[in-house]
Amino acid sequence: MSRTGILLLVSGPSGSGKTTLCRRLADEKEAHYSISCTTRAPREGEVNGRDYHFLDRADFTDRIEAGDFLEHAEVHGNHYGTLKSEVRDYISKGADVVMDIDVQGAILVRACEDSDIQTALTELFVMPPSEEELRARLTGRGTDAEDVIALRMKNALDEMKHWPSYTYRLISSTREEDYLNFKSLVLAERLKISRLT
Ligand code: 5GP
Repeated sequence: MSRTGILLLVSGPSGSGKTTLCRRLADEKEAHYSISCTTRAPREGEVNGRDYHFLDRADFTDRIEAGDFLEHAEVHGNHYGTLKSEVRDYISKGADVVMDIDVQGAILVRACEDSDIQTALTELFVMPPSEEELRARLTGRGTDAEDVIALRMKNALDEMKHWPSYTYRLISSTREEDYLNFKSLVLAERLKISRLT
C-alpha cells in the first residue's frame, strides 16, 4: 500500500524560524521544498533557483496570466507565488512537499477546490515565544535596513493574529527542540489513513 504526499504549509512571521525548519526538512531529504517565485531582490547569499525564482514584475504577471500559480500574494510590497509545478507532481507521486508561505497565501490554498491539494494539505503556524524575542530576532539578522525592520515588526504582529486558523501551532524554543516537534508532525502526518492509496 502506498500513499499520496503531504503538502505541509508553514506560515509565521519573519523571525519565527519557519524558513530554517522548512529548509532543514528538505536538506535531510524528508520533503521537497517548494521554491517560490518573488519579485523582491535577492539577499546576500541567496541563489536564484535554490532560495527563490527571482522574477521581474513583467515575468511575474506573465506567470499569473498563464495560470502557473497555485497561489500568489503581495507581501511587504513584493509579489510572491507558489508554482503549481512545485507541488502537484510531487504529491501525486507520494513525495512530501513543504512550503513556506504567508498568511494570505495560506487563505488561498485553504480555499482551493482541488481535492488532491486538500487531501495533501496540513497547516502549521510557527511563532516566536514573545514580542521581545521577535524584535530581537528581526534586528539580529542584520541584513535589512531600519525601516524594513520596522515594517516587518508591524507585519509580524498583524500576521500573528492569524494563528487560530491553522491546524497546528508551534511556539518556537531552541532550534533543536523546534525541529524535533516539526519532524514529529511530519512523521505523524505520514500515518494518516486518508492519504493511503
Ligand atoms: P522573505 O522575503 O523574508 O523571504 O519572505 C517574506 C514572506 O513571504 C514570508 O512570510 C514568506 O513566508 C512569504 N512567502 C514566501 N514565498 C511565498 C509564496 O510563494 N507565497 C506567499 N503567499 N508567500 C510567500
